[in-house]
Amino acid sequence: MTLKDFCKIPVGENKMKHKRRSGLLCPLTPDTNGSTEIDGKPNGLVKTGKTKEDEAIVKQLLSSNEFLAKILSDTSLKQLLDCMSVRQVYPGDLLLMQGEINSQLLVTIKGTFEKVVGEKRVEKFHDPKVFEEISILHSAKSCQTVRALSEGKIYFLDCLHYRKLRTRLEIKKRNEFVDYLKNVPSFAKATDDRLYCLSDLLHEKFISPAKPLVKEGEIIDNFLIVTSGSATILTRDQNRKLDKLTKGCFFGENIFLKEMLSVYTIIADPPGVHCLSLSRKDFLEHYEDLEDFMHEKTYVFHDFPKDEKFEHVKLENLKKIKILGVGGFGKVELVQDTKNKDNIFALKSMKKQEINGKSQIEQVYNEKDLQLECQNNFIVRLYQTFRDSKYIYFLLEVCMGGDLWNLLRRQRRKCFDTDTAKFYAGCILEALNYLHKKDIVYRDLKPENVMVTASGYLKVTDFGFAKKLKPNEFSYSFVGTAEYVAPELIQNLPHDKGVDYWALGVFIFEMLVGKSPFTNEEHNDLKTYKAILKGIDFVTFPYIVSPRARNLIKKLCQPASIDRIGCLKNGIQDIQTHPWFSKLDWEKLRRQELEPPIRISLNGRTDTRYFENFDEQKEDVADDFSLWDKDF
Ligand code: ATP
Ligand code: MG
Repeated sequence: MTLKDFCKIPVGENKMKHKRRSGLLCPLTPDTNGSTEIDGKPNGLVKTGKTKEDEAIVKQLLSSNEFLAKILSDTSLKQLLDCMSVRQVYPGDLLLMQGEINSQLLVTIKGTFEKVVGEKRVEKFHDPKVFEEISILHSAKSCQTVRALSEGKIYFLDCLHYRKLRTRLEIKKRNEFVDYLKNVPSFAKATDDRLYCLSDLLHEKFISPAKPLVKEGEIIDNFLIVTSGSATILTRDQNRKLDKLTKGCFFGENIFLKEMLSVYTIIADPPGVHCLSLSRKDFLEHYEDLEDFMHEKTYVFHDFPKDEKFEHVKLENLKKIKILGVGGFGKVELVQDTKNKDNIFALKSMKKQEINGKSQIEQVYNEKDLQLECQNNFIVRLYQTFRDSKYIYFLLEVCMGGDLWNLLRRQRRKCFDTDTAKFYAGCILEALNYLHKKDIVYRDLKPENVMVTASGYLKVTDFGFAKKLKPNEFSYSFVGTAEYVAPELIQNLPHDKGVDYWALGVFIFEMLVGKSPFTNEEHNDLKTYKAILKGIDFVTFPYIVSPRARNLIKKLCQPASIDRIGCLKNGIQDIQTHPWFSKLDWEKLRRQELEPPIRISLNGRTDTRYFENFDEQKEDVADDFSLWDKDF
């Protein structure tokens, strides 16, 4: 790329205002017995006196709320109601304050209230209303002020408590599924790990009374386990009852060996049957056959020996040259080692005083430990970390092409052509492949976290949200950047590496189109989440996205992670062999022998033309001698 390719975005040319997107984190760390704890605080659900009438109103409001209705099942709605507390309010009481961080869902029940946006009262109301439904996922700045004008009553929910409860129940449910599978002779020899993997393919199903679970002569598509209710097996002439299937009984076990026709008709008894169902199709998409499923996959990853080239660089010898990036965390600066001037680095510093609480400390230790561990051509190297009284520091490999967010904005059409996008997506896939092999889920893929090297290749950085997760392990935290989060995160469901493949779909779309698929002009996170839950099929693909690219994006953005390309039996290989990538030479890409689509032209090693300009801010940063960072 030459200098003339650089052009500022003309004001008003693009209706959509682009701004860098920050990550969101609401951590939940379940322990092995299924209970959860946040920042060391015990899980204390508030039980208060509530009336049946009020609860009916709240229930009706929650179930008719466009966003909540999509993420709450009947059971989770009931659990949510159980977690709510009641409060009496008085004239003048402030329930919400615009611009302040809120973490409670709020329902006004009785009384008169006003809603103020900016200086203006936009509404005076006395009918029951729901506010701040986004807090069910994470805390967020409130967009309005709500004040009581009369005596009244509100229901409110501390969402962390609700999410902890949901997490505990999800873990319990998974354990129950595995208990059912253990009783099936075909799986008797499988380890718990394998059964947990299989349990993720199970769907809960209800079959109404008198409806068939299966009909004689038809292909059996699903293996079924009865979890409640019963079903009757009928004779061929359907006049005689042969047997009953009751709780724990199963049917169709042999479909994992070969396609089978049913020799019976089985009918659900009143009041219907609840089953767990596993389709032959889902099974075969994840395993070659029963033997492949039973086979414990013990994959040992052999990394290169760690190169210790820059382990002796000292903080006091680093001379600051220029700021490369600024964020809530602190800043990233270009620095030079005065003892060896050939050595140029990026130094990320974080204010210690702003890293509060167990989960944030865990997060920065995670960032350090995981990035230190990674040695790959497509991942920014972290050489070592430092600390002083005010900051912790990450000494990073510098990438002088700036970040991909900047490069994208600087394109004349604010998007990349197909070949460029393909090359860049290939680089990211290489990074994900390496990370997933090391059981690391990245969880914050977006152009802002992807750096461009002087040679025009991409490298992933910012391991703030990365997490080690074994193949059969899940995380229950809400984590990521609104426009990039997968639906399972919004639905409070457990997640694993599938969230990275979803994000890759969003990433490819953003590179080709110039904006991400689920965004909106106001950058309203709640609207974004609604769009994500609606799904990729409701997103308009501009004509510049080829049918092959569209096909890949749709396969990556499948609503259920078990259906996502990358999560099936061939793993990441399915993505690499997708027709969109047909012309990409993966071997050459891996060895970085391909000519990059955009050339980075630099005038010397400290040329920062690919970065924005940041002013040096003089500020007083407090000391923190608490020693939480002693391992930095
Ligand atoms: P924020 O909270 O604002 O997202 P962050 O914690 O995510 O900050 P990073 O994403 O690691 O911080 O870095 C912020 C910015 O600093 C990047 O977008 C990039 O512009 C610049 N930067 C980070 N690492 C490097 C690097 N290795 N080389 C050059 N620039 C870098
Ligand atoms: Mg970042």
